[in-house]
Amino acid sequence: MAYIEVIDTYKRYKIGENIVVANNGINFSIEKGEFVVILGPSGAGKSTVLNILGGMDSCDEGKIIIDKTDISRFSNKQLTKYRRHDVGFVFQFYNLVQNLTAKENVELATQISKNSLDVDETLELVGLSNRKDNFPSQLSGGEQQRVSIARAIAKNPKLLLCDEPTGALDYKTGKQVLKTLQDTCRNTGTTVILITHNSAIAPMADRIIKINDAKVRSIEVNKNPLPIE
Ligand code: ADP
Ligand code: ADP
Repeated sequence: MAYIEVIDTYKRYKIGENIVVANNGINFSIEKGEFVVILGPSGAGKSTVLNILGGMDSCDEGKIIIDKTDISRFSNKQLTKYRRHDVGFVFQFYNLVQNLTAKENVELATQISKNSLDVDETLELVGLSNRKDNFPSQLSGGEQQRVSIARAIAKNPKLLLCDEPTGALDYKTGKQVLKTLQDTCRNTGTTVILITHNSAIAPMADRIIKINDAKVRSIEVNKNPLPIE
C-alpha cells in the first residue's frame, strides 16, 4: 500500500437547487517523501482534493488512507488533532499574523504541535535567519511565503499541502519559493503536495496528477524531476 491512497472519492456541493460535483470519483496514490504537483484549470476540483487531504473538509464517499489510517472515517475531534499535528498548510496569500515577527509566527505553530522542530533551525532551512525579527509588512512577498513554509514545516508534519503557493508572486520570486519547497521535501523527507493551474511547475515534481472537470485525467511519475536552481 502506498503512503497516501485516495480511493474513489466524491464531493458534491449544494448551492440552492443546484448540485456542483467538485470531485467525481478521484483515485491516486503517493509515495512517502514525494514532491507532487496536482495540475488543472480553475474550477477543476483541486482545492477540494487538497481540503479533503488536509482534513478541512470531508468527502461524501470514498477513502483517504494516509500512513495506513483512513482519515475519511475520522471524527471532528480526530480531524482537529490530525490538522494540528500531521499537516502543514501553505496558502497563496501567506496568512501570517501581521503583528508578530517572522520568528513569532513560526513559534505560534510550534506551540500547538507536539513534535515540533527548532524554530531557529527551521528559519535557517528556508534561508530567513537574517530576517527573523522582521514583521510581515517589512518582508517581500517571497520572504513572507518562506516564513509561511517555515511555519508549516516547524510542526514536523507528515504532509505539507500547498495551495497555489506561487500564485501571488512574480516568476523569479516564485521560483525561489518553489526551490524552498523542493529543498524542504528533499532535506526533511516531508511529502509535499502542491496544487496549481501553472503547467510550468509540473517538470519539477516527482509525480504529476492532472485533474480536470472533477476527475483525474492522467498521472505521470517523473524519474528525473528538474532541480530548481
Ligand atoms: P479548483 O481548486 O481546481 O479551482 P475547487 O475544488 O475550488 O477547484 O472547485 C471545484 C468546483 O466546486 C467549482 O465549481 C467550485 O465552484 C465548487 N466549489 C468548491 N468549493 C465549494 C463550496 N464550498 N461550496 C460550493 N461550491 C464549491
Ligand atoms: P484556487 O484557485 O486556490 O483553487 P478557488 O477560488 O477555487 O481557489 O477556491 C478557494 C477556496 O474557496 C477553496 O477552499 C474552495 O473550497 C472555496 N470555494 C471555491 N468555490 C466556491 C464556491 N462556489 N462557493 C463557496 N466556496 C467556494
